[in-house]
Amino acid sequence: MIKVGISSCVLGQKVRFDGGHKLSRFVDRVLTPYFSFQPICPEVAINMGVPRPTVRLLFKNQTNLLVDTKTHEKDFTDQMNDFSEKKINQLNEQNQMCGYIVCAKSPTCGMERVKLYRENGNTIPGGTPGLFTGKLIQKMPWLPVEEDGRLCDLVLRRNFIVRVFALNDYYKNINLQSKRKDYINFHTRYKYLLLSHCQEGYKELGHLVAHICEYNNEEFYHIYRQKFMDTLRKHANRKTNTNVLMHIQGHYKQILDKNEKKELSEIILKYRNSILPIESPMTLLKHYQNKYYDKFIECQSFLSPYPEELNIRYGMQ
Ligand code: SF4
Repeated sequence: MIKVGISSCVLGQKVRFDGGHKLSRFVDRVLTPYFSFQPICPEVAINMGVPRPTVRLLFKNQTNLLVDTKTHEKDFTDQMNDFSEKKINQLNEQNQMCGYIVCAKSPTCGMERVKLYRENGNTIPGGTPGLFTGKLIQKMPWLPVEEDGRLCDLVLRRNFIVRVFALNDYYKNINLQSKRKDYINFHTRYKYLLLSHCQEGYKELGHLVAHICEYNNEEFYHIYRQKFMDTLRKHANRKTNTNVLMHIQGHYKQILDKNEKKELSEIILKYRNSILPIESPMTLLKHYQNKYYDKFIECQSFLSPYPEELNIRYGMQ
């Protein structure tokens, strides 16, 4: 099972300030069979209790402080920073964490745009990440992190799931002892998926692999992982997906008969013009792959970046 960290309340644990939870149905119904969730509630972990007074982020002396909402006199910043430092180091050392789902808007767990208050009660435009998640993103910048609410957006959801499965694949196939051939195999399998997310990223990763001898094993492991995950963070869209679909189409050029070629071209064009979802050309390509089998295409993660049963629609890209 793939290890994914999660804000405890999003998993349904009653740890919120009011004794409630924020169970995500998507997490509960769709992801639970695939992910081994590691629930963490930083506020409970530093003994703030349940129920507890609400807290907010206060910008004071050029620092984001975690203080009680009413008086600003109870300051939990040092405790939270100490806990975050230790917990995230521990998660990092386990080296198997493939993603993290956090609770939106929380001054502790929010990923972005959490309200940041001035002493006069006004908020600072743009907000900030919560104290714990801000540190998580800073210390593990390769880790796919997403908020519960944003996972309702099909494009963001797919991007997050793709990254979690890709990172898990990296950990399964690459380690600190991996050799050039291991990276070449891995990089080859991800060619079309990377291309669909970012052409420049794919090229830069190829350049890295070609110059692997300039790095020591550990250095390369970390550099490739970061660049790989940065590339997948960019969103695939109809234009980039069409480009990849046409590349794959090229592999069957000699094998498909006239009618099959026409059918595939038309379906790719309809996808490009937003008439059909990506499932249409993907299904047809998988059909041709079953029928004609191309060794290179068979290993491409682009056609199956996560288990089909997850049934996550790509959304209108
Ligand atoms: S948002 Fe974070 S700190 Fe708040 S209840 Fe949920 S897990 Fe705990």
